[in-house]
Amino acid sequence: VGCAPEQTQRFLESYVKPILEINKNIIRRNAETILVLCRKNGVEPFAVIKGFNALDGVTEAIVEAGYKTLASSRLPHLAAVRRSAYDVETLALRIPMLSEIPEVIEYCDISLNSELETLKALDKEARSADKIHKVILMRDLGDLREGIFERERFIETAISAEKHLPNLRLFGVGTNLTCYGSVIPTVENLSVLAKDAAEIERAIGRELEVVSGGNTTSIPLMVSGKMPKKVNNLRIGEAITVPCDLAGHWHCPVEGLSNEGLILRAEVIEVGSKPTHPIGELGVNCFGSYSDYEDRGVRRRALVALGAFDIGACDKLIPQDKGVKILGASSDHMIIDIEDSSVNYGLGDVMSFTLHYQAMLFATANPFITKKYVN
Ligand SMILES: *Cc1c(COP(=O)(O)O)cnc(C)c1O
Repeated sequence: VGCAPEQTQRFLESYVKPILEINKNIIRRNAETILVLCRKNGVEPFAVIKGFNALDGVTEAIVEAGYKTLASSRLPHLAAVRRSAYDVETLALRIPMLSEIPEVIEYCDISLNSELETLKALDKEARSADKIHKVILMRDLGDLREGIFERERFIETAISAEKHLPNLRLFGVGTNLTCYGSVIPTVENLSVLAKDAAEIERAIGRELEVVSGGNTTSIPLMVSGKMPKKVNNLRIGEAITVPCDLAGHWHCPVEGLSNEGLILRAEVIEVGSKPTHPIGELGVNCFGSYSDYEDRGVRRRALVALGAFDIGACDKLIPQDKGVKILGASSDHMIIDIEDSSVNYGLGDVMSFTLHYQAMLFATANPFITKKYVN
């Protein structure tokens, strides 16, 4: 931050709020629960560490839980894993940029890919580094983010990598769902991947090590017992750190998972009663959006020192006090209705929140939030 990073960092560590409290025991328990659940279903998961910005203690808890492969979209996360003493493999989740091929080969054992030209560049770099780099070829099954869309081209690219790129190992195939297109993993779409995998295996005359059927959002299908047998891998981040959406959006509560591994605590800086409808002629808010304001008369509310700067969208926080409601936030302030709370909030009091995925992305990476390990 700014011009004196070391001093600033020391200041941040000693003073600055909000505080993100990290409970490693809860994260480790979540990680173990997911690992056991996956293995029971014939799936060996990779742990995804990007969502919590690869915070050291969180990564450590996940490694202690027994994961053998750590994955991230960001190479600096994987470079840090390489510098650690962890006995794990590293996987690059984002399709490599042509300009980062040397770093992919240096820091990653495995990468996800979708472009033949990129595969050729990886092969060439692996050869000059005297390495064999493993690749998982991605098929787009309709979510329309990464992956080869056409079946023929997918299979040809796989065969081409196997036959003509000697410093790559075609490690497997995979797909990603529920990211751009909101497409739900089903027996139908994952069976397409399984079928492609079988055809590639016939063509290359050996088994693929990995058939990777998606991310956290594939857990409900797995739990229901309907995951195609051939799918033997998932890439799991969210369910380990902030599993609340599994029960909420996906109606798939998993016993033993807790959302309280990460708790954000922020301080009340103004408290009192105000009208609920703004007064005056209304245009757009600070982020250029039009908002609707329900007129509920005068109500008690608290202003909290936390904002979009810290957590992205304010509806991605879950207040631990069920009697309060988040009304909105600008960059540095959050407005919270406390009328129905049984707590009598005063200045200096602390409000606590657990996080949805997006809030975790922002909060873990934000230098203005102190990270505090509670065990
Ligand atoms: C981020 C990411 C994941 C992990 O998703 P979660 O929802 O955190 O489980 C898996 N695969 C790819 C390609 C990703 O980019």
